[in-house]
Amino acid sequence: MTSYSNVTRGWNKLSSTFVRQARPSAQAEGTSVNLPLTRGSTVLFPTLEDMNTQGRRRYEHEYIYGAMGTPVQHELEKAIATLEGGSDCQIVSSGLAACTMPFLAFMQAGEHCLIPDSVYGPTRRFAENTLKRFGVSTTYYPPQASAEEIEKLFQPNTRILFTESPGSHTFEVQDIPMLAACAHAHNALVVLDNTWGFGIFAPFEHGVDISIQALTKYPSGHSDVIAGAVIVNQKHHWKTLRDTAIEMGQLAGADDCWLTLRGLRTMGVRLAHQARSALDIALWLQEQPQVATILHPALPSCPGHALWARDFTGAGSLFGVVLQKEYSQAGMENMINHLQCFGIGASWGGYESLVLPTSGGLTRNFTAPIDGAGPSFRLQIGLENIEDLQADLLQAFKYLQ
Ligand SMILES: *Cc1c(COP(=O)(O)O)cnc(C)c1O
Repeated sequence: MTSYSNVTRGWNKLSSTFVRQARPSAQAEGTSVNLPLTRGSTVLFPTLEDMNTQGRRRYEHEYIYGAMGTPVQHELEKAIATLEGGSDCQIVSSGLAACTMPFLAFMQAGEHCLIPDSVYGPTRRFAENTLKRFGVSTTYYPPQASAEEIEKLFQPNTRILFTESPGSHTFEVQDIPMLAACAHAHNALVVLDNTWGFGIFAPFEHGVDISIQALTKYPSGHSDVIAGAVIVNQKHHWKTLRDTAIEMGQLAGADDCWLTLRGLRTMGVRLAHQARSALDIALWLQEQPQVATILHPALPSCPGHALWARDFTGAGSLFGVVLQKEYSQAGMENMINHLQCFGIGASWGGYESLVLPTSGGLTRNFTAPIDGAGPSFRLQIGLENIEDLQADLLQAFKYLQ
């Protein structure tokens, strides 16, 4: 039986770490607990010699020029690297930029990559358009492929095995240690979009080489920031990544980095609360006659639930709902249009509840995870009172057709 502690223990454990990240040292009397916000392009140096030595220190998260990151960006980089368990982090302009950066930094024309069929839609579009244009080919694999199945898909030129666990629309949890072992046997790098698992899945302990975070989601937490992070745990990967980020002009604005650090402070309590509410709503929905299946990794009905139980220390606020097959897509959309508490909108991880029809089925090469079921949607559970959310879902279900 899934208990609250199964979904909240990682968040509770990290609460003190979230609070203490990137705090200025208290050496000077009167230091604020928060970092000052430095906005700036030009950095002044006392002499040309100083400027030239500083310029060579691009790998050290130092303030050299605004386009290489401001002090608050560098502190955010250290905080995110610590929380992911990596050595270094590059902050980029969006979660999507974080998804594309490993391909741009580590692949050459003529190479091949493997991407799960459940991948975030814009990552797939990048593979189909930009990567193809630059001579990189992609094979999509079933997110729950066995070792034998994945083994057959490697080519001599496969450079990246991309993973995303769980998928952000269809919630298949992937066997990352198994996939990493296969990839490493073929000298390929393992990249994980760990946005859902931030704080509750330790990527590098499970064999990942490069981890990705959409900071837009849980870390900033208030639906007012777009930013991303790429995290590595090996210095030679850090150099490649950092060089590419600088060459491409990748960074995030100082204000957005500052807001993300501010969001991080409360991430432990926000997510512990949201994880409990999401579990309550998921268990309650499971009992409703209109619902066929719940795709919440902490529930046995979710593909890969056993992997979640083995590898994760919690769950978040985002899960899927599959309706009975008597309902049509249009009927479900009618229901969604009548929700009052749940906003209709993309993204997730903020303080507010959201709803979105599942989009995975539209672009996948393989079948959706639940064959023969009805239409499906995804819920992001925010900080509202759960009785209000339940009442809202109940009244909207009357509009199902
Ligand atoms: C939202 C999201 C992204 C992209 O983040 P943006 O900051 O919106 O570009 C990437 N991966 C996953 C799994 C996401 O949910």
